[in-house]
Amino acid sequence: MLQMVDLHAQVASLRPQLEAAVARVLERGAFVRGPFVAAFEQELASWIASAGAATGAPPVEGELFALGVGNGTDALQIALMALGVGPGDEVVTSAFTFVATAEAAALLGARVVFADIDPETFMLRPEAVAAALSARTKAVVPVHLYGQVADMDALRAVCSARGIPLVEDAAQAIGALWQGRPATTLGALGCLSFYPSKNLGAYGDGGAIVSADRALFAEARAVANHGAEAKYHHRRVGVNSRLDALQAAILSVKLPHLHVWNAARRAAANLYDACLEGSAFARRPARLAGAHHVFHQYTLRVPPDARDALREHLRAHGIPTMVYYPEPLHVMPAFAGAGFGPGDLPETEQAAREVVSLPMHPELRPSDVARIADAVRAFAGERAESRERLAALAE
Ligand SMILES: *Cc1c(COP(=O)(O)O)cnc(C)c1O
Repeated sequence: MLQMVDLHAQVASLRPQLEAAVARVLERGAFVRGPFVAAFEQELASWIASAGAATGAPPVEGELFALGVGNGTDALQIALMALGVGPGDEVVTSAFTFVATAEAAALLGARVVFADIDPETFMLRPEAVAAALSARTKAVVPVHLYGQVADMDALRAVCSARGIPLVEDAAQAIGALWQGRPATTLGALGCLSFYPSKNLGAYGDGGAIVSADRALFAEARAVANHGAEAKYHHRRVGVNSRLDALQAAILSVKLPHLHVWNAARRAAANLYDACLEGSAFARRPARLAGAHHVFHQYTLRVPPDARDALREHLRAHGIPTMVYYPEPLHVMPAFAGAGFGPGDLPETEQAAREVVSLPMHPELRPSDVARIADAVRAFAGERAESRERLAALAE
């Protein structure tokens, strides 16, 4: 049976190293903060700094800092707190994302201002962001959806003239690049999630904040530590959010494999693309020029009235699918206070009706990809030729 993600495969392939890492934490007894977390933070910062190596791009110049936190949602909230977001402020973001992106701003009492997306990439349209800015805008949060980086040059051009910082929601995009520069290094602060199904997954919750801005990073670190720099002296009200030492030790084992895993995702995506080429039914994911996509998801657009039937057809053939995300945030009761409603974000609403994600993980075999693509084509009454293409690619 195929799965959307395969969490067992990586455990099986790294079992001795994972067990040794867990044993080291148990022996040392350093369960909170301590050497395992510090080591992972260092490794993460240098991995991100040289992530461009995947395309031959040079490392990020200058120092880069990484802070482990409890999860990706906390990372977003802490980043916004470090920037001083609070009541009366506005935070501009996408409504076509996981709830956490907007929740972080709303929890701080800021008004969430939703901007519409580009129909090709599903990410914030810079012109829409420009129109959404006001004198109260304190931050803009682009989401690097499905593993591709948003058009950060255009977003920076829109924001920097007004001195508005960008906080990257890179939860789905560790290792993704924009013009050779890694996600999380393209704004003021970058936020990562190590939720088990993410491209770099822990075996529990985890997240991180990355920044090249020493002062801002120090502020984020203090916020995550109850607003304290020194023990028992609290400069501001913060939160308690830490990356668990056991998770840090596990992530240190997994991080060196991330380039190989991301490359395997890209290879699977290339094969999906080849097998679905010319389909009049399924629109393949667009790839932005200048972006290096790490395919957290492989997401098609299909006619909205056929989506449920396609999913049912695939399920009957043992192929799971998911819809990320079926309901945009701006029409949910939780964000009614933001003052948006149906019809306000037409591209977002259209995308929510049309997207469907196919199984995607590094362990997906070429024959699986071909079978899935053929099943999509068969549903659409299109000739399925993936096996021939696969054979041609193998030659
Ligand atoms: C997973 C995810 C988050 C939240 O991460 P958690 O670790 O689950 O808190 C935030 N934003 C996006 C886009 C995500 O995919």
